[in-house]
Amino acid sequence: MPELNATHDPKLTSWVESANDGRTDFPIQNLPFAIFRRQGSQEAWRGGVAIGDQIVDLAGSVQAGAFSGNARAAAQAATEPTLNRLMGLGATASSALRQALSQALQTGSAAEATLKACLVPQAEAEYALPARIGDYTDFYTSVHHATNIGKLFRPDNPLLPNYKWVPIGYHGRSSSIGVSGQSFKRPRGQVKPADADQPQVQASQRMDIELEMGLFVGAGNALGEPIAIEQAESHIFGLVLLNDWSARDIQPWEYQPLGPFLAKNFASTISPWIVTMEALAPFRAPFAHPEGDPQPLPYLSSSANSAAGGLNIQLEALIETPKMRAAGGGPARITHTNYRHAYWTAAQMVAHHTVNGCNLQPGDLLGTGTLSGPTLDQACALIELTSGGKNPIQLANGEQRTWLQDGDTVILRGWCERPGAARIGFGECVGTVLASAD
Ligand code: CA
Repeated sequence: MPELNATHDPKLTSWVESANDGRTDFPIQNLPFAIFRRQGSQEAWRGGVAIGDQIVDLAGSVQAGAFSGNARAAAQAATEPTLNRLMGLGATASSALRQALSQALQTGSAAEATLKACLVPQAEAEYALPARIGDYTDFYTSVHHATNIGKLFRPDNPLLPNYKWVPIGYHGRSSSIGVSGQSFKRPRGQVKPADADQPQVQASQRMDIELEMGLFVGAGNALGEPIAIEQAESHIFGLVLLNDWSARDIQPWEYQPLGPFLAKNFASTISPWIVTMEALAPFRAPFAHPEGDPQPLPYLSSSANSAAGGLNIQLEALIETPKMRAAGGGPARITHTNYRHAYWTAAQMVAHHTVNGCNLQPGDLLGTGTLSGPTLDQACALIELTSGGKNPIQLANGEQRTWLQDGDTVILRGWCERPGAARIGFGECVGTVLASAD
């Protein structure tokens, strides 16, 4: 588990002025990674690090000789069109680069002139997926979401007895994961209305969101060699926001007996900036199962995980309907929760995923599952917020939503703040539902 060091010092400021306003997601204490290029250009995609409203071009920085030693090797790996090689170098390498960037971007740094020439304004950038995602696994780590959904799908048996013992997950599909800004056609599929004798094929009428976080795997493990929970976090490169779009009318007809399939694999959207585990060190939270619940089995338990396995990350989802867009008044918040409510931690996800010897690889993505909090206003999917479609959400402009309509944009945001630490954030994860193909 990364420890606090000089890079987290809340007193640090940067010669990039926009990093110092106390409101930016990207102060010098954050330094998240993305893959970017100038909008509309034919430039090569390459790694960058956010600072205020700017991006440090890592390819340009390496060329300019901005780094040495381990930091240079890490930055060199990040000049490629994906961050997989940087991720595979492990936490020590990205930590060396973080330390070098922190020093070079500090107020008064001798590297100012060199790095200033390597800045690209975020307003002029476009982003690609930060990694080539080989495998995507989605967990189900909110007991509140699992219970809310279970009540709707199985009223007599909402929370299955395995839930409190085993971190539930399924293997998803990586080809349809896109970066923020993604828009996708409303999916079609088999739907069976409760009162019908047989299913029909139609465009989904129950388009939903799932507010999640995604964990990018850093260094992998060899097939057959589980990752112990004590080492699990050193295999996580960092976190992004993840919207796991879901078709709630396709899902109930197909999900038994093998789990989610076409209701889930038509689109998933992630934010471009990966906030590293090291950047999150000031925002750890204790982890415990409620009294009376089964305690995690030994391979899912460690003193460090109990002391600080949780992450205090505030999360919100907002909707912007076409009418709101036309009026120019901005989006409306539909939920606000915190990642610390999860029933299983990031380290437990990694330890469980590999307990059977399954090999994780750099750039694999592990979704947390929908991160609904303990109360209904902290629910992170429309199916919960509307009680299965029965109670539409009232939006401030007079509109209602039960499910998403064509042209609706959903925006996820995440940030961390507490006294004695610099506020850091994740940027945005934005996606839009378009009309179906016919
Ligand atoms: Ca999900």
